[in-house]
Amino acid sequence: MPGEDTNKASNKKEPLVYALSRASRCFGCDLRLLENEIIQLKNEKDDREVYCRKCSGLEGLEVLLSGNATVTRLAKKYSSIKFVIVKWSDTWKCYERKGLLVEKQALERAQKEAALR
Ligand SMILES: [Zn+2]
Repeated sequence: MPGEDTNKASNKKEPLVYALSRASRCFGCDLRLLENEIIQLKNEKDDREVYCRKCSGLEGLEVLLSGNATVTRLAKKYSSIKFVIVKWSDTWKCYERKGLLVEKQALERAQKEAALR
């Protein structure tokens, strides 16, 4: 879809969550976090204060990686809560869009519907 997924993380309308680019620990509960774990940053400028999904209240949400445009579109439609997942790229020195964090039932419904098409 033209203009929809521009791979830029600067769209202010969509709340962001982060995929870790390296292993870390939760600042809140000291949980060990692996690379690609979904986390929330308290301060976007300071990536030391990393919070796990539990501490950020993001439990129960599912990761939907970019790649299937139909599933992405449907999941966005059905999920009342959605976050854009971005990950820091050491190569490009910027955040890259990786996918979405959506409600579990929205993702399941989207996948089912996409499979029927
Ligand atoms: Zn935690």
